Amino acid sequence: EKIRLGIIYGGKSSEHEVSLRTALSIMKAVDANRYEVTPIYVQLDGSWVKGEAIAGQLPEKIEALRLSAGEPTATGTAESGQEVLASSKPASLFAIGQQVDVIFPVVHGPNGEDGTIQGMLELANLPYVGTGVMASAVGMDKWMMKTVFAQTGLPQVKYVGLLRSQWEKNQDEVMDKIERELGYPCFVKPANMGSSVGISKAKNRSELAHALGVAAKFDRRLIVEEFVVAREVEIGVLGNEELVTSVVGEVIAAKEFYDYEAKYKGAGTELSIPAIIPDRVAGEIAELAKTAFQALDGSGLSRVDFFWDEKNDQLYINEVNTMPGFTPFSMYPMLFQAAGVGYSELIDRLVQLAFERHADKQ
Ligand code: ADP
Ligand code: MG
Ligand code: MG
Repeated sequence: EKIRLGIIYGGKSSEHEVSLRTALSIMKAVDANRYEVTPIYVQLDGSWVKGEAIAGQLPEKIEALRLSAGEPTATGTAESGQEVLASSKPASLFAIGQQVDVIFPVVHGPNGEDGTIQGMLELANLPYVGTGVMASAVGMDKWMMKTVFAQTGLPQVKYVGLLRSQWEKNQDEVMDKIERELGYPCFVKPANMGSSVGISKAKNRSELAHALGVAAKFDRRLIVEEFVVAREVEIGVLGNEELVTSVVGEVIAAKEFYDYEAKYKGAGTELSIPAIIPDRVAGEIAELAKTAFQALDGSGLSRVDFFWDEKNDQLYINEVNTMPGFTPFSMYPMLFQAAGVGYSELIDRLVQLAFERHADKQ
């Protein structure tokens, strides 16, 4: 009997296009003898569409939905052959729940990998791939994630968390505190984004004011970090309670930092797999990654990103991505490919882990 696999993709976030690519890749990769796939598309306007027709339309949709970083510009519309679901999302999901055995949510960013979809899937009592509500929510909020890392004793860069309202009311006080605690250069980020949206580096007070203003457009929670000069190394974690790690990979960005363009348009970015680093460092990365995954109560998959300051031989954890890019050419699947787990097998393992986690909760 085939496994009826629902793939929820798209979403209202600025990572809509990335999600489309992932969904298309998964649909192509799964064994048609073993899976019956139902694509469930969350359009940019937030409405849900279901239907076989979508799978074939994906490449054109990707073209149509070109977006500049941080600014969704186009909205998808339902076309013939697609079933437009009720605009109330939970209602739509309960309707789909009758028709699938397991869901693979591949929606990145806010309202996707932040625990909201996961919460709905919990309510619908459906098994789903990846992290649950808490790990998804904590992993999406960089401020909360750093609080958990600090409590767990994981090494990380110095940071200051603040609210947009604090920034707007007391600009000078906020900047004084950042200068006192971090100095320049520092790095400003909205707490709840991904794909480098809304982040910028500040080398002085006027750049800091500008950077905070930009980040505040994207979120009411903000993070400022000490800027580190370091190599960016990443590792995949796979499992629920018993964890497997991939090889370590390195992101080598031609640009000053790994921004949205560099990440998704391939503008001068190279992935080095495996990373050319000492075995001892790779071993430490694997241990820290598992500790971080467990601290968040991860399940299924996560890509854990680190900075390695080679000169001072210091590792810093940067973030846990609970729904990392997942095309066959994305870092996470490539890291496991290098560890001997191919793309289709990886999907199989994730689906099995989803069923196991669901059974474990009962
Ligand atoms: P996102 O969740 O959007 O990927 P990150 O925190 O990973 O956000 O930041 C994006 C990129 O910015 C990183 O991949 C790295 O290149 C750069 N970066 C982030 N934080 C720092 C920092 N503290 N020091 C130096 N570079 C940083
Ligand atoms: Mg991220
Ligand atoms: Mg990142």
